[in-house]
Amino acid sequence: MATGGAAATGGGVRRAIGQHARLMRVTAIFACVPSCLPADFAHRHMSIRTAVLAALTLPAVLAAQAPPDRVEQALRADIGQRREEQIAYLERLVNIPSGTLNTAGVREVGRLIGATLDSLGFRSAWVEVPASMKRAGHLVATHAGKPGTPRVLLIGHLDTVFEGPNQRFERVDTIAKGAGSNDMKGGDVIMLYALKAMQTAGTLKDLNVTVIMTGDEEYPGDPLSDARAALIDAAKQNDIALAFEGGSRTQATIGRRSASGWVLKVTGQQGHSSGVFRSGYGAIYEAARILDEFRRELASEENLTFNPGTIAGGSTVSYDTLTQNGTTASKTNIIAPITWVQGDLRAMNPEQIVRAQTKMREIVARNLKGTSAEISFSEGYPPMAVTPGGERLLTIYSGVSETLGYGALTASDPARRGAGDLSFVAPFIDGVEGLGALGNGSHSPNESVSLPALTMQTERAALMLYRLSKLKADAVRRQPKM
Ligand SMILES: [Zn+2]
Repeated sequence: MATGGAAATGGGVRRAIGQHARLMRVTAIFACVPSCLPADFAHRHMSIRTAVLAALTLPAVLAAQAPPDRVEQALRADIGQRREEQIAYLERLVNIPSGTLNTAGVREVGRLIGATLDSLGFRSAWVEVPASMKRAGHLVATHAGKPGTPRVLLIGHLDTVFEGPNQRFERVDTIAKGAGSNDMKGGDVIMLYALKAMQTAGTLKDLNVTVIMTGDEEYPGDPLSDARAALIDAAKQNDIALAFEGGSRTQATIGRRSASGWVLKVTGQQGHSSGVFRSGYGAIYEAARILDEFRRELASEENLTFNPGTIAGGSTVSYDTLTQNGTTASKTNIIAPITWVQGDLRAMNPEQIVRAQTKMREIVARNLKGTSAEISFSEGYPPMAVTPGGERLLTIYSGVSETLGYGALTASDPARRGAGDLSFVAPFIDGVEGLGALGNGSHSPNESVSLPALTMQTERAALMLYRLSKLKADAVRRQPKM
């Protein structure tokens, strides 16, 4: 995950106009999320509510700032002692090129991490996806702990947006550069070294935990329902989830919007430009009307956004909705017969998605003279609503941060963070996102990770896991609606 934009790049023009099949092939490639949000998006109301709820539902020791106990001191000491080992491990991971479509590379990263988890007593397995998907598959590893304690799902990913000779690991002072150094091989080593510290301190044996690292987070396979079947399966077998995408010094994420896509195809009667207001307005005017009415009638919906990312119109248009790439040719004295527009749609809850899609369809149907239009919506990432359980987990995580002297954490604004793999488990279990690395340049060739913050995040993750392992599952599991 990382930016709010599409992860797909390049590609030539491969399809001519009028291929309806293509309309349905719009894959949700909007994976990502600003992995490192500016710290000033604190959501004050939410954090106050979080504190109140927590005080009502959690053992006092977890809600309040508590000094580290003996085990927590041991966890911290182990993480400090292994700092260089952890950075060297990150270097190894970064230097295995694993762009999403490099299936051999993604599998190799999976083998390395799987072997590490096995050495900690996990049972790891590789989950294949259908060959037609052209993705590597996923790593899943399980570890049984003390009965009755929460079953915790840890979410990472193996793939990166970029790879290549200029993307190797390079340590410069307090940062390290390289593909995936931050998003999210950095997050993966935070997870692994938190688990290693748990083992050293003798507490891993109590932890019921499943690790899943997807192989196609940055550019998910199609259809998404197959690409995320293993993740959803894992969610159903666990009580809570912790996701290791980009972290923050002051915030974590317990709510985020959906991310899906739409394609608008507009047609008009071709003719001489002099007849544009008599015989028919043409496809470009109609597309402009539709987009303008989307904005006028829907932009006021709180937290809803829909962005037309590309548009191509004219008399000869090639547009590929998969690569989001095309060409157009015409003359200024021709009324345009065809226009394609492709965009995204992000919403806070399923009801808002339905409301937006209904309105958009209505607007599309009000055609100008001599034109017609159709819109299709692709499947995407479901929204992750803020739940009492998510707030409870944030309170525990914030308490951990305070114990470590890193200060309290608040919930990031759900509207500011894009979708990620945690969104797929949100319909089943509660979770927190943002236990991962801090850095810059995710989804760019200039990605880097903060090494001091790697230690902070590993300490936070280890104490979080330790405290969860001491709770009863019922204290954190999502309660059925009354
Ligand atoms: Zn990511």
